[in-house]
Amino acid sequence: MHFYDVAVEAPLFKTFTYSSELPVSPGQRVSVSFGKRSADGIVLKELSAPEDTTKIKSISSVHEDYPLQSTARLKWLRWISEYYVHPMGLVLQLCYPSLKKGGRPTKKAAIKMSEKLSQSVQLTEEQQKASDSILNLPEFHAHLLYGITGSGKTEVYLDVLEKKIEEGKKGLVLVPEISLTPQLIRRFSERFGDQIAVLHSQLTDREKTNQWWSIVEGDKKILIGARSALFCPIPNLGVIVVDEEHEASFKQEEKLKYHARDCAIMLAKELGIPICLGSATPSLESWKNASEGKYHLHRLTKRVTTENVANIHVIDMRENKKDEDSELPSWMSDYLYQKINETLMEKKQVALFLNRRGLSQIVMCRGCGHTYMCPNCDISLSLHAKTHLTCHYCAFHEDLGDYCKICKVGETKPVGIGTEKVETDIQTLFPNTRTLRMDRDEVNDRITLEDSIRKIENSEIDIIIGTQMIAKGLDFKNLTLVGILLADIGFNIPDFRTGERSFQLLTQVSGRAGRHSQGDVVIQTYNPTFSSLVFAQNKNYEAFAEYELTHRKELFYPPYGKLMSVRIQSLNYTKLKDYIALLEKAVSQYALGSSFQVLGPAPSPIFKIKNKYRYGMLVKAASSKQIREFYLRIQEKLPPPHGVQVLPDIDPLNTF
Ligand code: ADP
Ligand code: ZN
Repeated sequence: MHFYDVAVEAPLFKTFTYSSELPVSPGQRVSVSFGKRSADGIVLKELSAPEDTTKIKSISSVHEDYPLQSTARLKWLRWISEYYVHPMGLVLQLCYPSLKKGGRPTKKAAIKMSEKLSQSVQLTEEQQKASDSILNLPEFHAHLLYGITGSGKTEVYLDVLEKKIEEGKKGLVLVPEISLTPQLIRRFSERFGDQIAVLHSQLTDREKTNQWWSIVEGDKKILIGARSALFCPIPNLGVIVVDEEHEASFKQEEKLKYHARDCAIMLAKELGIPICLGSATPSLESWKNASEGKYHLHRLTKRVTTENVANIHVIDMRENKKDEDSELPSWMSDYLYQKINETLMEKKQVALFLNRRGLSQIVMCRGCGHTYMCPNCDISLSLHAKTHLTCHYCAFHEDLGDYCKICKVGETKPVGIGTEKVETDIQTLFPNTRTLRMDRDEVNDRITLEDSIRKIENSEIDIIIGTQMIAKGLDFKNLTLVGILLADIGFNIPDFRTGERSFQLLTQVSGRAGRHSQGDVVIQTYNPTFSSLVFAQNKNYEAFAEYELTHRKELFYPPYGKLMSVRIQSLNYTKLKDYIALLEKAVSQYALGSSFQVLGPAPSPIFKIKNKYRYGMLVKAASSKQIREFYLRIQEKLPPPHGVQVLPDIDPLNTF
């Protein structure tokens, strides 16, 4: 009889012992009986026979068709479980597709591959050096490919992947979900034909399952996917690419709160393969590593196609007072108006960008001042289509009447600007233009997104109005003017990453203009001297990084210190308050005289979301080990009562 340590797909940190008459390899997926049910799990290692074997159940079945998780991958999965304090069994769930192998998709294949055109370009000297370095250094090395949009980073990835495939290896390319556009897939499939598998959240379970098997069983050579593609056990992996490595969407914000870039680096390390991170605005974490020589830094200093980089004009909106009879809405400067006119005359396209949908129109009563709020969340409702109020957190919605629902006599009035208001104003100002709104209300699935992209490419659209959605990765030949309507949104968020986020966003949005011919960017702001804005205007990432890193160092924020945020929440307010009181005491005891700092627990800025009351706690220390120990100690000494959840987030991207 053999005995095995098995990680069962259940929310538990413990592993369990099972027996088997026939030997089973570590890394093998198996079924076991678990309590009253049957569950899947992975064999971690063989154990010597325990003293008492009477209670040990045997493995019910072995899933021979699934590939083994290699020793290196098992080690990596354990690291994830420990580092992010998440049960191993739940980490394992991410490693397999949800359906059984072999079914056919119900609808036509959602992933269209183009013919292999195989026109590899002659790399520039800078590109060649980067590619050679990635290919020639043996074993694990991390590379940071830093260059503005259009500087040829993707060509370097393609070259490296091509060489790895020639060696019989496979490649993994991680991109932010939103960048996984048909444009990007086309670019890869033009080089590699149908050797590509794609994984993203908008595929059906059947499609995902089929894509997963196509790379695992070997017919496909490259997997392009959003963050979760990382967990696909690609055999014979030779290189990992993480494009737009600074993107916040690589961090999963729920359940297992992992950062796909950081996990990818650990995976490359365990597998002993190169990893290439690419960005025009690298995260400060990566930049610091590169500056200290931990990563190899490769600079691509020029745009390959045109020498043009958009001109950036910053408009101080404080000086944009309008005459009484001005027909321009308050959010539009004379300068931007004039630029839009010129661009339309030249039959080119305009994109107007409004930072995040959250800033939309809210509704107030002119009589009593009542603001329409969500009953489930501490947040104002947003106005859509003139009469429809919705909550962006819980999707609560109600109709808006002409008169206030509290005082019954005051007239209701929208306040603020949102993408909808901008679109309406634009249609009034430019009656014969074709507008397209791209935000999460309008474009909420892949088909609509792809359809919108096609319309823009075919010049069926003159003015695009959008949120973050239009900031990322899109590349349109005819788009020559980008207007950032209110750059200030986001400058004031009380988070230490605000400066970095603002810089990245402004740089990215600016990068949308004039990729193929001369372009202009108009940034409207009330804070023209805000540091991130000035650095973005001067297109000086390196100076920005130096400035920002100095600040971070002083305050011991990442990448210098390590952070964990903990959310403590409950539907039951009394229970929560009682627990928080105990927690406060415990925290002050444990943190006493130690080398870390604990802020809170304190009520979260949005105190209630989906009827759950929320507290937050921020822990800062020199190492993530210290932080985990602190957390585990609290968990052990003060386990939360039933109905109160304590959710840790290691290396949080949002700290407020
Ligand atoms: P990035 O990924 O940095 O945004 P890309 O790799 O997409 O840059 O390159 C921008 C454009 O320049 C693409 O159309 C690409 O085909 C072209 N390009 C890149 N490198 C070369 C090269 N060495 N020779 C010719 N064209 C190139
Ligand atoms: Zn709500």
